[in-house]
Amino acid sequence: MVAPSSAGEGLRSSLHHRGQRLTPQRQRVLELFQRTGEGTHLSAEQVHQRLLRDRARVSLATVYRTLRLLSSMGLLQELELPEGGRRFELASDAHRDHHHLLCIRCGRTEEFESPSVLEAGQQAADGRGFRLLECVLNVRALCPRCAADEALHLEGPE
Ligand SMILES: [Zn+2]
Ligand SMILES: [Zn+2]
Repeated sequence: MVAPSSAGEGLRSSLHHRGQRLTPQRQRVLELFQRTGEGTHLSAEQVHQRLLRDRARVSLATVYRTLRLLSSMGLLQELELPEGGRRFELASDAHRDHHHLLCIRCGRTEEFESPSVLEAGQQAADGRGFRLLECVLNVRALCPRCAADEALHLEGPE
């Protein structure tokens, strides 16, 4: 049978069961995302904090590994931030094709939908004979507050 260490095997079979064969630990992380709902983007640190608040005994490294695993299984969606940080959110078919505005300074993340982006992705895929699976645009930007801060900083003190 499958040994606990053969992650590859476990992963492949789990893919077919869409999370039904998750360990209690992984189930717990997934449930946390299900409770917070769609459109919530959490860092590994935030997930860890919440688990600790629920009295779970788990290390940050384990949380991180679990998040990556759930992402590779398609249960979570991983969002890469400009400065190397990552956020995770629940993956769902209803909430799949949305885009993100990311503030490169404070990490604030806003979602938006855009039919024209989806259309562009579809056209690019069609034109090259690709089958479109997902079309996501991540826009790097400064949020209003950080933009104001930056402007102040550039002007300098009077
Ligand atoms: Zn999102
Ligand atoms: Zn900001």
